[in-house]
Amino acid sequence: MRIYIDMDGVIANFDKAAKEGEWKHRPDLHVNYRNLEVINGAIESLAKLNADHEIFIASTPPWTRPEVWGHKKEWLEEHFPYLKRKLILTHRKDLLIGDILIDDSKYRGQPDFKGSWFWFNKDWDNRNWKACLEYVNNLNEKYEKV
Ligand SMILES: [Mg+2]
Repeated sequence: MRIYIDMDGVIANFDKAAKEGEWKHRPDLHVNYRNLEVINGAIESLAKLNADHEIFIASTPPWTRPEVWGHKKEWLEEHFPYLKRKLILTHRKDLLIGDILIDDSKYRGQPDFKGSWFWFNKDWDNRNWKACLEYVNNLNEKYEKV
């Protein structure tokens, strides 16, 4: 299957950096995206997904901070070097063509993605990486039976 994976809130811990900052509004305009921590479980989970599927990273950088586009590329190559050249920056995730979108937001076209959208949120017990891998495996078995 072809799987798209969001960055912030799914593999990169944007929320932690946002809470640590002293900004009152729009942390996305201040956070240092180059230094975000990796979210628990993401390293192992993406390695597993990459073994069996075609995976891409699909991320929406703040439009007014072009330096973040480069920071996202550098961050990805540091933590997930095998995903070099697999980064897609877009504000329109509904335009992606594939089987699964793993994303924690609904404001960039995720609900209109033509495949299956796994609404990831690390704060919900049933929507973490463990649940996500089960979801992908279940869908994969369904496809293989067809
Ligand atoms: Mg996100």
